[in-house]
Amino acid sequence: MLDALLDGNRKFAATRFRGDLTMRPSRTTIVIGCLDPRVDPAVVLGAEQGQLVVLRNVGGRVTPHLLEELVLLRQVARGAGGDIGAGWEVVVLHHTQCGITLIQDRPELLAPYFGLDERDLPGVSVGDPRAAVTHDVAVLRGETRLAGIHVSGLVYDVTTGLVQPVI
Ligand SMILES: [Zn+2]
Repeated sequence: MLDALLDGNRKFAATRFRGDLTMRPSRTTIVIGCLDPRVDPAVVLGAEQGQLVVLRNVGGRVTPHLLEELVLLRQVARGAGGDIGAGWEVVVLHHTQCGITLIQDRPELLAPYFGLDERDLPGVSVGDPRAAVTHDVAVLRGETRLAGIHVSGLVYDVTTGLVQPVI
């Protein structure tokens, strides 16, 4: 298995490597997506290396941990002499047939993931990607530490390859 990865890397370095990329993504866009291998955000959105920042977790959800990563990333950008603010886009990308729906009846797993009491879990809409995107976009738009960043939400259909804007 590892040999295949190393072989793939040699081919990448020989044919597609670009040494001129910067830490700042050229599309000033951050995508939050699920780690399902069918829905690699850069691939399904037709992006090239260096164009997007991608944060992935189970379900592509805006969890307390994910929020802290975004806030930390903003500080990293400021440390590099820039910012993540006006002119930047955060896109929440959820998808149909997401595996997180398989544990939607497991509050003991989901409550700590979302940092919520079990009674508040229905509000995060684990079983419905469109409602989940709407929820997560609202959380991001309400986060004062991310003020100035435009936030939108998409749902990717694993049966067609197409995304639909939701919010
Ligand atoms: Zn998923």
